[in-house]
Amino acid sequence: MLKILVLGGGYAGLSFIKNLDSNIAKSANITLISNTNFHYKSILLHEVVSHRDDITIPYSNILPNFINFINDEIIEIKEDIVIAKNNQYDYDILVVALGFNSDDFGIKGVKEYAYSMVDYNNCLVLNDMIEKQTNGDIVVCGAGFSGIELIGNLAYKFKNSNNIKLKCIEAMPMILPMFDSDNALYAKKYLEKLGVEFYLEHKILEIKRDSIIVENNGNQGEIKSNLTLWTAGVKGNAIIESSKIFDSKRSKVEVNGYLNPINCNNNNIFIIGDCALVKDNKNGRYHAPTAQIALKEGEYLARIINAKIKNQPLNKQFVYSNQGTICSLGKDCAIGVVGNKVVKGKLASILKKLIELKWDFKLKGLKALL
Ligand SMILES: Cc1cc2nc3c(=O)[nH]c(=O)nc-3n(C[C@H](O)[C@H](O)[C@H](O)COP(=O)(O)OP(=O)(O)OC[C@H]3O[C@@H](n4cnc5c(N)ncnc54)[C@H](O)[C@@H]3O)c2cc1C
Repeated sequence: MLKILVLGGGYAGLSFIKNLDSNIAKSANITLISNTNFHYKSILLHEVVSHRDDITIPYSNILPNFINFINDEIIEIKEDIVIAKNNQYDYDILVVALGFNSDDFGIKGVKEYAYSMVDYNNCLVLNDMIEKQTNGDIVVCGAGFSGIELIGNLAYKFKNSNNIKLKCIEAMPMILPMFDSDNALYAKKYLEKLGVEFYLEHKILEIKRDSIIVENNGNQGEIKSNLTLWTAGVKGNAIIESSKIFDSKRSKVEVNGYLNPINCNNNNIFIIGDCALVKDNKNGRYHAPTAQIALKEGEYLARIINAKIKNQPLNKQFVYSNQGTICSLGKDCAIGVVGNKVVKGKLASILKKLIELKWDFKLKGLKALL
């Protein structure tokens, strides 16, 4: 029996499993290994930090019985074998879908004094810290997508508090560079009304225990902080970097049009989700890591494996086009682009919730489908 090993049960890994042909899935030996017993929706990690939302679904509720599930921590990926904390696992086909880690870009003090959203359990710890914070300054470093979603939720949480001050530091002249300036300005003004103080064009030089050293217009300054949250960068899973078989950049591996790592010479290894660097054929740049592309990669890879097992050729390579993006600004407001339409305010927030629900429905249908 063909052994298919899937590492990581996030958006990419589960999308792969969900889209496998049911007959093939039954005739192969498919094992999912994850370091948690539940799937957590990474796109909602900021809601765990701010409001301790339960964003988990036990794998036992979504995986069919003939998918083996193993709870283990992957340590290293080698040619033909995967080393984990409790065991070693061999494979015929390996699907690497281990998600992201935070990237400190080598900035002094980030590891010691700043806290990142990495997974569900670490976000529960961050929520404990937020709940203990009855006064002082909470600083979010980075005004990209996840930083703004986080500060939006915190602004909503603390909107009636006179004791907590929310600050957001960003090196660029504007927040949310993936959106047009009108949309980004709308978000900035909305958050400022809720009390967020933005420090734009402030480059972070160092994080200290209770302050952040910044540079603005060539001048050095210090911003007070009682709790520093780091959302300024993500990379792929550190396991990728420590696995010598891969030629990685920031713990990510460039993949070809069939999602095999380039420079690896093993067509039975596939990398999907945030650990994969996928080039956009149109402009030669890498696609940004999102749940949306992770889902599409999982879907495409399932088609490759279906064809491989049926001994059918699959010549069509993976091509991705973004369907739109919506960034939440707290409970009832969001901004975004859907297709090529700009959406703002409550409508955007409702659309965002519908997108989230769509994934829930897909997951719940997983058992029935396979
Ligand atoms: C706050 C926030 C908001 C976001 N909002 C959006 C959004 O609105 N839209 C969007 O498209 N994207 C969004 N993203 C990005 C999105 O979450 C990621 O791109 C997506 O989760 C990538 O999917 P993945 O399957 O690669 O990783 P994940 O979904 O993170 O899954 C990784 C899996 O690997 C497992 N794992 C990790 N390490 C190990 C190990 N050593 N051993 C075993 N198992 C392991 C984890 O438990 C998990 O099951 C957001 C991200 C953040 C942080």
